[in-house]
Amino acid sequence: MKVLVPVKRVVDYNVKVRVKSDQSDVDIANVKMSMNPFDEIAVEEAVRLREQGVVSEVIAVSCGVTACQETLRTAMAIGADRAILVETDAELQPLAVSKLLKAVVDKEQPQLVILGKQAIDDDANQTGQMLAALLDWPQATFASKVELAADSVQVTREVDGGLETLKLNLPAVITTDLRLNEPRYVTLPNIMKAKKKPLETIKPEEVGVDVSPRLKTLQVSEPPARSAGVIVADVAALVEKLKNEAKVI
Ligand code: AMP
Repeated sequence: MKVLVPVKRVVDYNVKVRVKSDQSDVDIANVKMSMNPFDEIAVEEAVRLREQGVVSEVIAVSCGVTACQETLRTAMAIGADRAILVETDAELQPLAVSKLLKAVVDKEQPQLVILGKQAIDDDANQTGQMLAALLDWPQATFASKVELAADSVQVTREVDGGLETLKLNLPAVITTDLRLNEPRYVTLPNIMKAKKKPLETIKPEEVGVDVSPRLKTLQVSEPPARSAGVIVADVAALVEKLKNEAKVI
């Protein structure tokens, strides 16, 4: 059984992003980029399923600029067998990514696609859901446990106040939540091995997908700066301020 894992190149989660001066977007010039953390969890899960013997091949796919090759190499260092880059310099929105991923699914015929629940750059949380709709496949989002059988998959999801367990017939789409697993540390020998694994590049035009944006970002702004705190002398002063200044009690 083949598993496809879409991985997105995003601003590293440790970077404090800055908004461009014209408020058109976030400034990513000279900023460290990494694999979206939820996608690392997705790659780890797919690799564990292959190690358990229920999956035969793990294919990582990324849509975007040439530098996404690095993200794909990281996926292969975690353990993906090969990679596909859908290369474009165009701004990609979730619908366009979903269509590109559908084209890759049509070509590769995986039984399972495991995506991250959301990309930490635009926080869209849309791609997995739209891909499932385009494919007309069942989907289980925000997975915290995945048990794969030959023709079905059982997925546990964390919902408000408890756990929900779903059984999906394959082929299916799953998106990962934070507690699904803890991705392994990527070792130097595995980074070296990943350099030799196959990485195929295709273009959106070759698979007949129109990636033009459907949404326009009007403005990006930083959260309002917080005013400085004050140290109060005692509880009475605190109560006085809460009552008369903040007016919260
Ligand atoms: P989003 O809907 O943008 O929050 O992204 C959800 C998930 O879709 C991500 O965690 C990835 O698994 C996948 N995804 C989004 N954009 C891309 C991309 N450009 N290339 C590959 N996978 C992507």
